[in-house]
Amino acid sequence: MQATSSHARPFVSLVGAGPGDPDLLTVKALRLIQSADVVVYDRLVSEEIMALVNPNSELLFVGKKLNHHCVPQDQINQILVDKAQENKHVVRLKGGDPFIFGRGGEELETLVEHNIEFEVVPGITAASGCSAYAGIPLTHRDHAQSVQFITGHLKQQGQDIDWPSLAHTNHTLVFYMGLKQAPVIRQNLTEHGLSLQTPCAIVERGTTSKQRVLTGTLSQLDQMASQAISPSLIIVGSVTTLHSKLNWFNV
Ligand code: SAH
Repeated sequence: MQATSSHARPFVSLVGAGPGDPDLLTVKALRLIQSADVVVYDRLVSEEIMALVNPNSELLFVGKKLNHHCVPQDQINQILVDKAQENKHVVRLKGGDPFIFGRGGEELETLVEHNIEFEVVPGITAASGCSAYAGIPLTHRDHAQSVQFITGHLKQQGQDIDWPSLAHTNHTLVFYMGLKQAPVIRQNLTEHGLSLQTPCAIVERGTTSKQRVLTGTLSQLDQMASQAISPSLIIVGSVTTLHSKLNWFNV
């Protein structure tokens, strides 16, 4: 379905913008941001991507940073409803994929309550983008038979995570929002069976021209995390040792 600015009814496109490199936008995402009436976006959407947005559209920044909630989620939900009910085509643009640690589901539930039609356009999630651009395959026959995406935005010192199920050597772990909780992550993984020598990596500002990759072992994770800036992903597992071999291209 093509949503255009001539929409005669409320319509919201929940669109994933990918991890930063504008070339990783989907064709559909690009078409939608070029035709939107209103674009509601957050901090993780890169400047290069915002430069591609329809210059005549209304731009609403609702950026959030950990502990600095600029616009609370319920207000973001209400903005989407209010703008759509003006019979505008609203593009809700989110970093990465809207359904991976993006609270996209909550926004859609509000739209459903208000009988507002919507579509969801997936984006490349940070784990896929960062691992590709850092030369770290998330699975590999010799290293990892499974991969798991975990939020590092933990409650109660990480009590809400099933740590024993994560601490396996043939498994890759990708922690989103994990920088501040790196010591808790390191402590729980090693208490539940991973060696302090387990390889890990941090990919900072992945897929952008400022991408930086730090590698080491779990024993060094706290120090690595203290040197990294947001947004960063923590990848734990022996696949991260492939970075030095496969990181042959520049962003
Ligand atoms: N929906 C997003 C994730 C939002 S949570 C997605 O699918 O990618 C925000 C977290 O994503 C950040 O704290 C960071 O851990 C990760 N992240 C997003 N973009 C990133 C990037 N370009 N480089 C490294 N990590 C990134």
